[in-house]
Amino acid sequence: MLIDYIKELDEKYYMGVFGSRLPAAFERGEGMRLYDSAGNSYKDFLAGIAVNALGYSDQHFKEALKGQIDRLIHTSNYFYNEQQAQLAQQLCERTGYDKVFLGNSGAEANECALKLAQKRAYDKGNKEANFVALKNSFHGRTLATIAATGQPRFQQPFQPPALTFRFIESDDVAAVDELIDENTCGVIIETIQGEGGVFPLSALFVKAIRRRCDQVGALLIIDEIQTGMGRTGRFLAQEYLGVRGDVTTLAKALGNGIPIGACLATKDAAATFGPGDHGSTFGGNHLACTAGRYMVRAIDDKMCEDIMEMGQFFKYQLFKLKGAHPEYVADVRGLGLMLGLQLTERLDAHEAMVKLFDLGFIVATAGCNTLRFLPPYIVTRQDVQDLMGALEYMFEHGS
Ligand SMILES: *Cc1c(COP(=O)(O)O)cnc(C)c1O
Repeated sequence: MLIDYIKELDEKYYMGVFGSRLPAAFERGEGMRLYDSAGNSYKDFLAGIAVNALGYSDQHFKEALKGQIDRLIHTSNYFYNEQQAQLAQQLCERTGYDKVFLGNSGAEANECALKLAQKRAYDKGNKEANFVALKNSFHGRTLATIAATGQPRFQQPFQPPALTFRFIESDDVAAVDELIDENTCGVIIETIQGEGGVFPLSALFVKAIRRRCDQVGALLIIDEIQTGMGRTGRFLAQEYLGVRGDVTTLAKALGNGIPIGACLATKDAAATFGPGDHGSTFGGNHLACTAGRYMVRAIDDKMCEDIMEMGQFFKYQLFKLKGAHPEYVADVRGLGLMLGLQLTERLDAHEAMVKLFDLGFIVATAGCNTLRFLPPYIVTRQDVQDLMGALEYMFEHGS
């Protein structure tokens, strides 16, 4: 189908929440590459927004899914489910958490975590519990997760908020004791703010939050929907900080493209939920769990080490670019294969993304005029060098 016709249908029938999209509709993918209907190919440093961790068309992943499709796709949570039970076991064994709930997206994983915190406060007799989140955060698009997202542009039209949140500036240690109090039932953070512009939190700050949560009896919820599943070079990014959440949420790379989200909790936190407190029709069905099981197994310690090593190489290349083009590059941030290149006011990040697209490279943007790179874990040094060539070309041919 021609792109112009697809665009016409989209504009006529699809809700206009994505505005004007990048001008391509892809037909197939192979490894790092996507191919569009006009016969163009692109190197993909976006990976479906940190989802396609294994790249496109991974043979063994496809075989695992096809095998499950031939057997069974869905039965509902009226019944026990071997795939679901085994994925829960794998996630707990891999992360040290005790219990899992499975939904269909990141926002749903966070909803589960927020409900857990609120019900826990309710059970303790606190009917007016508040939540705390960080400014410049991103936690999803449902009403509760928008309330947790500390960015006015997401929240503005959806007042009053579904839940009451107070917001702390990242790394403002003094505000931690002030804003997290006995009425706080839950604190939700990303260890590296992804959508906000790839801003890592300091270990000192996260430790201060952990300590304060313990003091006041609030649950610490770590949103690892983007940072988890090996993205930063550890299975969970919180491993770097020496801090553990009471609850951690995962999604994105957990399904490698099959929709799935997970809420992991300690035994104590999970004990809040009893029969009837939460649920999901699709959540944890056979197909999604087959994808999740494959991914948890695939992202082993060796793969995490490779991600770390490639991430260091990638980041070093970005620093070199900053040295060569200080007029365009303001900052380099991130960890593993979650990297941000903040541009100076001389070049708009969205414009840069479109230019790179024309040069055959798919990248993302994030807050604070930042280009964001979230490549599949199969990215090679050559791929990174090719991208650097395109960035250099863009900077040298005046923007
Ligand atoms: C993507 C993302 C979400 C939302 O996930 P959806 O699957 O789009 O609902 C939540 N938190 C973080 C940190 C994310 O990156």
